[in-house]
Amino acid sequence: MRAPSIEEIIAQDRAALRACPDFPDCKGCLEEVCVTVASVADFPSEYGRFRIVAFLNNKDDKDHIAIVKGDIGDGEGLLVRVHSACLTGDALGSLRCDCGPQLRHALARIEAEGRGVVIYHQEEGRGIGLANKLRAYALQDRGYDTYDANIALGFKADERDYLVPAAMLMKLGVKSVRLMTNNPEKVQAMEKAGLRVSERLQHELPGHDHDRGYLETKRERFGHYLELVGGERG
Ligand SMILES: [Zn+2]
Repeated sequence: MRAPSIEEIIAQDRAALRACPDFPDCKGCLEEVCVTVASVADFPSEYGRFRIVAFLNNKDDKDHIAIVKGDIGDGEGLLVRVHSACLTGDALGSLRCDCGPQLRHALARIEAEGRGVVIYHQEEGRGIGLANKLRAYALQDRGYDTYDANIALGFKADERDYLVPAAMLMKLGVKSVRLMTNNPEKVQAMEKAGLRVSERLQHELPGHDHDRGYLETKRERFGHYLELVGGERG
Protein backbone atom coordinates (compact mmCIF):
# COMPACT_ATOMS: atom_id res chain seq x y z
CA MET A 1 0.00 0.00 0.00
CA ARG A 2 1.28 3.42 -0.91
CA ALA A 3 0.27 6.28 1.41
CA PRO A 4 -0.82 9.39 -0.50
CA SER A 5 1.38 12.45 -0.06
CA ILE A 6 0.13 15.67 1.59
CA GLU A 7 -0.12 17.32 -1.85
CA GLU A 8 -2.15 14.38 -3.16
CA ILE A 9 -4.50 14.41 -0.16
CA ILE A 10 -5.17 18.13 -0.54
CA ALA A 11 -5.77 17.80 -4.27
CA GLN A 12 -7.97 14.69 -4.03
CA ASP A 13 -11.20 14.64 -5.96
CA ARG A 14 -13.33 12.25 -3.94
CA ALA A 15 -15.78 11.65 -6.77
CA ALA A 16 -12.93 10.69 -9.09
CA LEU A 17 -11.46 8.38 -6.46
CA ARG A 18 -14.81 6.67 -6.08
CA ALA A 19 -14.74 5.86 -9.78
CA CYS A 20 -12.16 3.22 -10.67
CA PRO A 21 -9.12 5.44 -11.14
CA ASP A 22 -6.79 2.76 -12.50
CA PHE A 23 -3.78 3.99 -10.55
CA PRO A 24 -0.43 2.30 -11.16
CA ASP A 25 -0.74 0.57 -7.76
CA CYS A 26 -4.12 -0.93 -8.66
CA LYS A 27 -2.57 -4.20 -9.84
CA GLY A 28 -4.32 -7.11 -8.18
CA CYS A 29 -7.45 -5.10 -7.54
CA LEU A 30 -10.65 -7.13 -7.92
CA GLU A 31 -12.37 -6.50 -11.21
CA GLU A 32 -15.75 -5.56 -9.79
CA VAL A 33 -14.43 -3.60 -6.87
CA CYS A 34 -11.87 -0.85 -6.98
CA VAL A 35 -10.72 0.53 -3.66
CA THR A 36 -8.30 3.42 -3.24
CA VAL A 37 -6.44 4.65 -0.19
CA ALA A 38 -7.49 8.24 0.54
CA SER A 39 -5.20 8.73 3.55
CA VAL A 40 -3.00 7.03 6.12
CA ALA A 41 -2.60 8.63 9.54
CA ASP A 42 -1.18 7.82 12.95
CA PHE A 43 -3.83 6.50 15.36
CA PRO A 44 -2.94 6.37 19.05
CA SER A 45 -5.82 4.77 20.98
CA GLU A 46 -6.74 3.33 24.36
CA TYR A 47 -5.79 -0.05 22.91
CA GLY A 48 -2.39 0.90 21.53
CA ARG A 49 -0.80 2.69 18.64
CA PHE A 50 -2.21 1.93 15.19
CA ARG A 51 -2.41 3.49 11.74
CA ILE A 52 -5.83 4.49 10.46
CA VAL A 53 -6.46 4.16 6.73
CA ALA A 54 -9.35 5.78 4.87
CA PHE A 55 -10.61 4.02 1.75
CA LEU A 56 -12.94 5.07 -1.03
CA ASN A 57 -14.45 2.57 -3.44
CA ASN A 58 -16.50 2.33 -6.61
CA LYS A 59 -19.19 0.05 -5.18
CA ASP A 60 -20.91 1.99 -2.43
CA ASP A 61 -20.85 5.55 -1.11
CA LYS A 62 -19.54 4.52 2.28
CA ASP A 63 -16.31 5.49 4.03
CA HIS A 64 -14.93 2.15 5.21
CA ILE A 65 -11.68 2.30 7.17
CA ALA A 66 -8.87 0.01 8.24
CA ILE A 67 -7.10 0.15 11.59
CA VAL A 68 -3.67 -1.36 11.05
CA LYS A 69 -1.10 -2.57 13.55
CA GLY A 70 2.52 -3.33 12.69
CA ASP A 71 3.94 -4.34 9.34
CA ILE A 72 1.85 -6.32 6.88
CA GLY A 73 5.13 -7.92 5.73
CA ASP A 74 4.57 -10.94 3.50
CA GLY A 75 0.81 -10.57 4.05
CA GLU A 76 0.43 -14.10 5.40
CA GLY A 77 -1.53 -15.13 8.49
CA LEU A 78 -2.66 -11.71 9.61
CA LEU A 79 -4.94 -11.45 12.60
CA VAL A 80 -8.03 -9.74 11.17
CA ARG A 81 -11.47 -8.67 12.29
CA VAL A 82 -13.99 -7.43 9.71
CA HIS A 83 -16.29 -5.51 12.03
CA SER A 84 -19.68 -4.25 10.92
CA ALA A 85 -20.44 -0.79 12.25
CA CYS A 86 -22.84 -0.66 15.17
CA LEU A 87 -23.24 2.84 16.56
CA THR A 88 -25.35 1.68 19.48
CA GLY A 89 -22.99 -1.14 20.44
CA ASP A 90 -19.62 0.36 19.47
CA ALA A 91 -20.12 3.88 20.85
CA LEU A 92 -23.19 3.96 23.11
CA GLY A 93 -22.63 0.91 25.29
CA SER A 94 -25.72 -0.97 24.09
CA LEU A 95 -26.44 -4.28 25.77
CA ARG A 96 -28.76 -5.38 22.94
CA CYS A 97 -25.85 -6.89 21.01
CA ASP A 98 -22.26 -8.02 21.43
CA CYS A 99 -20.67 -5.63 18.90
CA GLY A 100 -18.90 -3.23 21.28
CA PRO A 101 -17.08 -5.92 23.26
CA GLN A 102 -16.21 -7.74 20.02
CA LEU A 103 -14.62 -4.60 18.54
CA ARG A 104 -12.66 -3.78 21.68
CA HIS A 105 -11.51 -7.37 22.10
CA ALA A 106 -10.31 -7.46 18.48
CA LEU A 107 -8.27 -4.26 18.90
CA ALA A 108 -6.75 -5.53 22.16
CA ARG A 109 -5.90 -8.90 20.62
CA ILE A 110 -4.22 -7.29 17.61
CA GLU A 111 -2.30 -4.91 19.86
CA ALA A 112 -1.08 -7.88 21.93
CA GLU A 113 0.04 -9.71 18.79
CA GLY A 114 1.70 -6.59 17.38
CA ARG A 115 0.34 -7.13 13.87
CA GLY A 116 -3.12 -7.20 12.36
CA VAL A 117 -6.03 -5.27 10.88
CA VAL A 118 -9.55 -4.28 11.88
CA ILE A 119 -11.72 -3.37 8.93
CA TYR A 120 -14.49 -1.09 10.13
CA HIS A 121 -17.19 -2.00 7.64
CA GLN A 122 -19.91 0.65 7.43
CA GLU A 123 -22.77 -1.84 7.31
CA GLU A 124 -24.89 -0.78 10.26
CA GLY A 125 -27.64 -3.25 11.15
CA ARG A 126 -26.27 -5.98 8.85
CA GLY A 127 -26.48 -3.50 5.99
CA ILE A 128 -29.95 -1.97 6.50
CA GLY A 129 -28.73 1.30 8.05
CA LEU A 130 -29.12 2.86 11.48
CA ALA A 131 -32.72 4.09 11.33
CA ASN A 132 -33.88 0.77 9.90
CA LYS A 133 -31.98 -1.10 12.59
CA LEU A 134 -33.83 0.92 15.21
CA ARG A 135 -37.13 0.17 13.43
CA ALA A 136 -36.18 -3.50 13.69
CA TYR A 137 -35.44 -2.99 17.41
CA ALA A 138 -39.00 -1.71 17.89
CA LEU A 139 -40.31 -4.88 16.23
CA GLN A 140 -38.05 -6.96 18.44
CA ASP A 141 -39.48 -5.22 21.50
CA ARG A 142 -42.83 -6.64 20.38
CA GLY A 143 -41.66 -10.21 19.96
CA TYR A 144 -39.92 -10.46 16.58
CA ASP A 145 -36.41 -11.88 16.52
CA THR A 146 -33.63 -10.02 14.67
CA TYR A 147 -34.05 -12.26 11.61
CA ASP A 148 -37.84 -11.87 11.20
CA ALA A 149 -37.71 -8.16 12.02
CA ASN A 150 -35.46 -7.47 9.01
CA ILE A 151 -37.70 -9.58 6.76
CA ALA A 152 -40.85 -7.78 8.00
CA LEU A 153 -39.26 -4.45 7.01
CA GLY A 154 -38.62 -5.68 3.48
CA PHE A 155 -34.93 -6.54 3.79
CA LYS A 156 -32.96 -9.74 3.66
CA ALA A 157 -32.02 -11.06 7.09
CA ASP A 158 -28.45 -10.03 6.20
CA GLU A 159 -27.83 -7.47 3.46
CA ARG A 160 -24.03 -7.45 3.69
CA ASP A 161 -21.43 -8.66 1.26
CA TYR A 162 -17.70 -8.66 1.80
CA LEU A 163 -16.23 -7.69 -1.57
CA VAL A 164 -15.13 -4.25 -0.40
CA PRO A 165 -13.47 -5.38 2.87
CA ALA A 166 -11.68 -8.19 1.01
CA ALA A 167 -10.45 -5.71 -1.61
CA MET A 168 -9.31 -3.33 1.15
CA LEU A 169 -7.29 -6.08 2.81
CA MET A 170 -5.72 -7.06 -0.50
CA LYS A 171 -4.88 -3.41 -1.19
CA LEU A 172 -3.07 -3.34 2.16
CA GLY A 173 -1.02 -6.30 0.95
CA VAL A 174 -2.80 -8.97 2.98
CA LYS A 175 -2.78 -12.43 1.40
CA SER A 176 -4.18 -14.71 4.10
CA VAL A 177 -5.99 -14.05 7.35
CA ARG A 178 -6.73 -15.60 10.69
CA LEU A 179 -10.24 -14.26 10.94
CA MET A 180 -11.80 -13.39 14.28
CA THR A 181 -15.45 -14.27 13.70
CA ASN A 182 -18.24 -16.59 14.76
CA ASN A 183 -19.95 -16.18 11.39
CA PRO A 184 -19.32 -19.00 8.88
CA GLU A 185 -20.78 -16.90 6.04
CA LYS A 186 -18.11 -14.26 6.60
CA VAL A 187 -15.39 -16.89 6.18
CA GLN A 188 -16.95 -18.20 2.95
CA ALA A 189 -17.52 -14.70 1.58
CA MET A 190 -13.92 -13.63 2.18
CA GLU A 191 -12.63 -16.75 0.44
CA LYS A 192 -15.01 -16.24 -2.46
CA ALA A 193 -13.70 -12.69 -2.77
CA GLY A 194 -10.17 -14.08 -3.20
CA LEU A 195 -8.72 -13.84 0.28
CA ARG A 196 -7.48 -17.01 1.95
CA VAL A 197 -8.77 -17.65 5.48
CA SER A 198 -6.07 -19.84 7.01
CA GLU A 199 -7.88 -20.04 10.34
CA ARG A 200 -11.14 -18.98 11.98
CA LEU A 201 -10.69 -17.76 15.52
CA GLN A 202 -13.65 -17.94 17.86
CA HIS A 203 -14.65 -14.41 18.83
CA GLU A 204 -17.27 -14.94 21.49
CA LEU A 205 -17.47 -12.87 24.64
CA PRO A 206 -19.49 -13.49 27.78
CA GLY A 207 -23.17 -12.67 27.25
CA HIS A 208 -25.78 -11.34 29.65
CA ASP A 209 -29.57 -11.26 29.99
CA HIS A 210 -30.11 -8.41 27.53
CA ASP A 211 -28.45 -9.97 24.50
CA ARG A 212 -29.13 -13.64 25.16
CA GLY A 213 -32.13 -13.81 22.81
CA TYR A 214 -30.23 -11.93 20.11
CA LEU A 215 -27.26 -14.29 20.36
CA GLU A 216 -29.53 -17.34 20.38
CA THR A 217 -31.07 -16.09 17.13
CA LYS A 218 -27.59 -15.64 15.68
CA ARG A 219 -26.80 -19.23 16.54
CA GLU A 220 -30.11 -20.84 15.58
CA ARG A 221 -31.10 -18.84 12.51
CA PHE A 222 -27.81 -17.44 11.14
CA GLY A 223 -25.73 -20.53 11.96
CA HIS A 224 -23.12 -18.66 13.99
CA TYR A 225 -20.70 -20.70 16.07
CA LEU A 226 -21.65 -19.69 19.59
CA GLU A 227 -21.31 -21.58 22.83
CA LEU A 228 -23.51 -19.14 24.77
CA VAL A 229 -22.02 -20.10 28.07
CA GLY A 230 -22.92 -17.89 31.02
CA GLY A 231 -20.81 -15.24 32.65
CA GLU A 232 -21.13 -11.54 33.14
CA ARG A 233 -19.74 -9.05 30.70
CA GLY A 234 -18.06 -6.04 32.19
ZN1 LIG B 1 -24.49 -4.28 17.52
